[in-house]
Amino acid sequence: MRELIKAHLDHRRVWRDFDYCYPVISRRSRGVSLGVNLNPDKVCNFDCVYCEVDRLTPPRRRDLDLGLLERELGLLLDLATSGEIYEIPPFDSARPEQRRLNDIAFSGDGEPTTAREFPEAVARVARLKHQRGLALVKLVLITDSSRLQAPEVLRGLETLMANQGEIWAKLDAGSEAYYRDICRTQVPFQKILDNLLATARRWPILIQTLFLEWMGQGPSEAELEAYCGRLEHILAEGGRLHAIQLYTVARQTPEPAARPLGRLEMDAIAASLRGRLPNLPVEVYYGPEEWA
Ligand code: SF4
Repeated sequence: MRELIKAHLDHRRVWRDFDYCYPVISRRSRGVSLGVNLNPDKVCNFDCVYCEVDRLTPPRRRDLDLGLLERELGLLLDLATSGEIYEIPPFDSARPEQRRLNDIAFSGDGEPTTAREFPEAVARVARLKHQRGLALVKLVLITDSSRLQAPEVLRGLETLMANQGEIWAKLDAGSEAYYRDICRTQVPFQKILDNLLATARRWPILIQTLFLEWMGQGPSEAELEAYCGRLEHILAEGGRLHAIQLYTVARQTPEPAARPLGRLEMDAIAASLRGRLPNLPVEVYYGPEEWA
């Protein structure tokens, strides 16, 4: 803790020395999001072709110390709520409308729900939020959708959803074959679909989809058609979906064949999704303009 206090005084270092928590200005939340990384070991049950996690550099640590995680998050909450964070680069360049704490997001270097400590971590973060009088700050789970029905994960989700929670669940494909190509995981595609339906029947969820150019090709018409069909099925079976967040690759990744789709392609995909799923808002997040 002494180290943490020292770090707090040196604001420029404060989160760079942290093991679990980090602040970002998030395009999606249009404000400050405090990330909570439950996978410091960088292990994930997916191996997405577009993953930005640097797995060549060894992790700083592999264990999850929830006491330390809480202390790190507490210090970031202090910086964000006092406004001190906006004196520190890069947050000093945040626009006025971005100078607000929007959420605490379970995200990071792997799939948060694979952490054994997931339910306890959610409970501790929810408690911390309430202790600080921040009941309205959202708790977001960013998930690859693979473990949404595991009993211990459900316990964590119940806590999350009772505390201004949102579930942002990944679906990057419409067909098993494309899913295997892009997500490169042993988790069966049907399990992802079952998890999404079961979860969306219980709580409204947000679908996060990343489409990209992989090996020189974007998703085919047939793939997009199949993808829309999966979402239609969830809705037809009583699932509730808030929106689709449509992404492409935003930064260079270890796989040179994983490249962003251009604005025109993203707009065309968004238009086709809106045509097929007219009641579902589609938010589009473009890739970098300068990546030629
Ligand atoms: S699920 Fe996320 S962390 Fe895991 S490989 Fe895919 S992009 Fe990377």
